[in-house]
Amino acid sequence: MMASLRGRRWCAAVLVLAAGCATNPVTGRRQISLVSQAQEVQLGQQSAVQVTQEIGLVPDSALQRYVQNIGGTLAAASERPALPWTFRVVDDPTPNAFALPGGYIFLTRGMLALMNSEAELASVLGHEIGHVTAKHQVTMMSRAQLAQIGLGLGSILVPRLQNLGGLASGGLQLLFLSYSRDAERQADDLGFRYAVGQRYDAREMARVFQSLQRVSETERARSGRSPLPSYLASHPGEPERIASVQRRAATVPAGTATRVETAAYLNRLNGMVYGENPRQGYFQQGVFLHPDLRFSIVFPTGWRTQNLPQAVTGASPRQDAVIQLTLAEQVRNADDAARRFFQQQGVQAGQGGRTTVNGFPAVVVYFQAQTQQGIIAGIAQWLEKDGQVYQVLAYSPGQAFRQYEGTFRQTLNSFTSVTDPAVLNIRPNRIRAVRVPQAMTLAQFNTRYPSTIPIEELAIINQVAGAGTTLPAGAMVKQVVRE
Ligand SMILES: [Zn+2]
Repeated sequence: MMASLRGRRWCAAVLVLAAGCATNPVTGRRQISLVSQAQEVQLGQQSAVQVTQEIGLVPDSALQRYVQNIGGTLAAASERPALPWTFRVVDDPTPNAFALPGGYIFLTRGMLALMNSEAELASVLGHEIGHVTAKHQVTMMSRAQLAQIGLGLGSILVPRLQNLGGLASGGLQLLFLSYSRDAERQADDLGFRYAVGQRYDAREMARVFQSLQRVSETERARSGRSPLPSYLASHPGEPERIASVQRRAATVPAGTATRVETAAYLNRLNGMVYGENPRQGYFQQGVFLHPDLRFSIVFPTGWRTQNLPQAVTGASPRQDAVIQLTLAEQVRNADDAARRFFQQQGVQAGQGGRTTVNGFPAVVVYFQAQTQQGIIAGIAQWLEKDGQVYQVLAYSPGQAFRQYEGTFRQTLNSFTSVTDPAVLNIRPNRIRAVRVPQAMTLAQFNTRYPSTIPIEELAIINQVAGAGTTLPAGAMVKQVVRE
C-alpha cells in the first residue's frame, strides 16, 4: 500500500474493432488483425497509465532515464522504430518484465536486482521489445476478440474471491495472458538480435535465465509456489532457453558483440530499494503496520494476506471470506465515502451509521450486494484519520456471513494508531555496489561488508554459486544494507 493511493479503477476500453489484414513487421507475413496500430498504441498507453498508478514507479529519475536510454536505443533499431517506446521500472520486488501493446515496457526493481550487467538488461528489454515488434499481444487480442473474451470487467466492489490481488485484475488480465512457447522463442530470438545489434554480449541472457531459475527453486522450496508471476511461468524451460542462447551466440562473429558493462550497471543500482519496502506497509504476524500512514490493523489468524499498492487484502483459509483495506479517494469524509459506496448498483445498506472506532470518527454499515458471483454480505467501515478516509470491507457469500461476522468485527475494531518508534522509523533494505579490493570468497566478503539478507540470497543476486565462491580483485559486488 503506497502512501498516495489512487482509487480510480481502470475502465477497459471497449475497442471498436474493424477487421482487417495487416503485415507482421517481423515475419513479413500477412495476418488477420482486428487491431489497428493506432488502437494498439491507445490500448497500450491506457494500460501503461493503469500499471503506473497501480504499482507505482521507482522514484529515481536517473535510473528511469538509464533504462529508457538502453531500451530506446534497442527499439530504434527494431522493425517498428516509430512506436512511442517507453521503458519504466516499477516499484515491485518480484522479478518480472512485461510488454504492453504499442511499445510500453515495464520491468520491476526486483528484476533489476537480479541482474548484474547492462548486457543482461539489454537482453531482457530486447526480449520484451520482440513481443511488441512481432505483435504478439495484438495477435492475442485479435484471438481473444474472436473468441469473444470481452474486455469488460467485473464489479468494482468485489474482486473474484478465488483470485485476490495481483496485477491481473479486471481489464489488465487480458494483457497478462500467457504467450505461446513459439512466441517466447521468437521474442528470445529477436531480443538476442537487438542486443547484438548494439554490440552487447547477448550470451549474458543465459545468466538471467539461471538467476530466475534459482529464485524460482528457492521460493518453491520455501513456500511451495513460484514467486514469478508471468515472466517465467509462461516461458519455455530454462535449460532449453540457455542452450538456445549458446546456439545463437555461436553464430555471432568473435569480437563483434562484447559489451557487458557491469560497473556502469551496478553503479546505477547503487541505493535502490531491495525486497519489500516496509515504508509502504508490512505484515508482522498477521498485523498490518504502515509507518508512513501511522496505523495498524489486525487480520484474522491463518488468513492469507497481501499488501498491494492500492489495497491490503486478507482471504480466509477456505477462500470464502475477504477483508480489504483501501483509501477512499476524493471524498470529504466517511459519510461521503459511504454515500458513494451505496450509490453502486446492486449494493444495499443494512443497519449501521455514525460511530467511533478507537477514538476515530467512523461510519460502519452492514451491506448486501448482488455480484456476478451471487449475493454477498458484509460490513463496510469508513474511518477518518489525519484527513484521510480508510475503507475496510469485510464480506463473504451471503450464506457464510453469520459464521464470519465476529471475525470481521474483530478486524474492523482493531484499526488503531501506531506510535512505536521501531515501526515509525523502519527503513528498507538497499543495494550498495562495492568494488572488492582483493580476491576473497563471498563468505569473506559478507564478513567484511555485512548484508542484511541470507548469504544464499546474496549469492543469487550476485550470480555466484555460493559462500565459498571466490570473487576476483576489482569485481563489483552487491551488498544489501539497511541504512
Ligand atoms: Zn516473453
